[in-house]
Amino acid sequence: MLLTSSSTTTTTKAPRCSSYSYSYSLRRQFLRRKSSGTSSGKTKNRVSATASSSDDGDDDGETRSVIKKIARKLRSGELTSVKVTEMYLERMKEKSSLNCYTSFNEERALERAEEMDRAMQRSGNEVGGRERHDSRSLLRGIPIAVKDNICTKNAHTTAGSKILRDYAPDFDADVVKYLNREGAVVLGKTNMDEFGMGSTTESSAYAPTSNPWDESRVPGGSSGGSAAAVAAQLCAASLGSDTGGSIRQPAAFCGTVGLKPSYGRVSRHGLLAYASSFDCIGPITSSVEDAAILMDVLCGSNGNRDSNDANLDAKFFNSSNNSSSSGSSSFTDAIVSKENLVDAAAPLKGKTFAVIKETFTGLDEKVSASVMESIELVESLGAKVHEVSCPTFLFGLPAYYILALSEASSNLARYDGIRFGAQDYLNMDLVDSIKSSRFEGFGAEVKRRILMGTYTLSEGYSDAYYKRAQEVRRLIYAEMTQHLQTYDGFLTPATSSLAYKKNENQEPLAMFTGDLMTVNVNLSGLPALVIRSKDSADENNTLLPSGIQIIGKKYGEAELLGVGHIIEMFSAERKLYKDAFPEASLF
Ligand code: GLN
Repeated sequence: MLLTSSSTTTTTKAPRCSSYSYSYSLRRQFLRRKSSGTSSGKTKNRVSATASSSDDGDDDGETRSVIKKIARKLRSGELTSVKVTEMYLERMKEKSSLNCYTSFNEERALERAEEMDRAMQRSGNEVGGRERHDSRSLLRGIPIAVKDNICTKNAHTTAGSKILRDYAPDFDADVVKYLNREGAVVLGKTNMDEFGMGSTTESSAYAPTSNPWDESRVPGGSSGGSAAAVAAQLCAASLGSDTGGSIRQPAAFCGTVGLKPSYGRVSRHGLLAYASSFDCIGPITSSVEDAAILMDVLCGSNGNRDSNDANLDAKFFNSSNNSSSSGSSSFTDAIVSKENLVDAAAPLKGKTFAVIKETFTGLDEKVSASVMESIELVESLGAKVHEVSCPTFLFGLPAYYILALSEASSNLARYDGIRFGAQDYLNMDLVDSIKSSRFEGFGAEVKRRILMGTYTLSEGYSDAYYKRAQEVRRLIYAEMTQHLQTYDGFLTPATSSLAYKKNENQEPLAMFTGDLMTVNVNLSGLPALVIRSKDSADENNTLLPSGIQIIGKKYGEAELLGVGHIIEMFSAERKLYKDAFPEASLF
């Protein structure tokens, strides 16, 4: 009864994009023939197509890190945390049409900022006696946004759902505890698809979020609020969660950086579960360096309360970057500035990446061209790039949706209006009250997924669906990890298309197909970083970002960040939001 007619059909609509079945090598030849040709013509909302190509992308030629820029101003006394927080709060109000936040508490944020200002004054603008170069200390007084499925003590945590409209946990998630410990100012909670189920942020019970680059489009999902808030400078950085792509896909649609850590790398304690064997928390930021700064904090290992926590110490940071130092003890150690590169002409020399042939099937032409240029850049920086075939790749989507929905149906059983969730109809008998609370509290997408997940777990069907999907998961894992014995990582598009128009993606199964690029990473528990590739103009000449995904070895986040930072430094075509919308320029 709760299923719409479209969800019962078994025919999957073709992706919205024009279909390209060229393999990577053919596309490469195609691009080579094009030689001088990149996209031309004036775009409506952007600066000219050639941004800085040889500096680090910053006005002072030093860093693209928004966190570092603010930290520097806080330390020099040019700004206070209160002032920075006020600036963001003001912008959040100016840009309320984007609907990035589900809630924020101005007073509380300002009180916290004031506390941090006092702490910095006490320690002479050094933090807690720590060394200047301790990246964690950089977070003191910096406003960070947190996705609304991550628990914040005594503050609304709704997971984008009506059923949690009144929920204010009495504890902080581990990651929030770590942010607070390092002095961050939690600015507010960001909008999301209900319980992380979606790719557009349109399934939020609190109205959709808009894409800051083009408000008629979605920011992606489910961490759409977190990505849009970073892109539009409504926070210095944010946290998202990624079950099947929810950090990476919105990062690509909004032109930000998104890192999905290896499963178990960051504590999930206090993350409202969607699918427990997939869920990860990670950073969404303006630069790769900011992602590394946040990772140094998020991977705090003492006192984690996640039973699957890898609890790794520094030796597992596993960086083999181009710095002169050997090995890394933190993620930020993997970030090497241009001057410190061992081989500035070929900083990626010695690395070999694999391009998965299957990812170029059914790919939007503009995304394909954009990613191909990034791949060419990687080659020009000295890396080798080979095409490989992963025949199991295309089975990832059905396996993911069977497993994630099965886990979701079990995880969401706790929201019955008695143990968790708002209770409707107090005077009814027990069963009717539970039914009504769930009927009223959950949105259509969540109900649909609970039904599908219950079906795939039910007796008589679980062998055919759940068990078989587990077997496929194992095959995908084996295939990907086998390639990673030969290669340093995979390079793939982050998404199959540019950001969708709002309301464009109403057919649930068509929406599922949009996750093709990301779900295999979660099925395999691997880390993946999304960074900007070349922007593309849409049919109205509005410039839209897209992203390239670098998938790394398990626990190889530091290496990913090091490589991503190099690509970012040498990328010519990255227009910053503040260049496109100068009035938006805060830092
Ligand atoms: N779009 C995917 C889904 O709806 C991924 C969501 C996520 O990573 N939370 O399941």
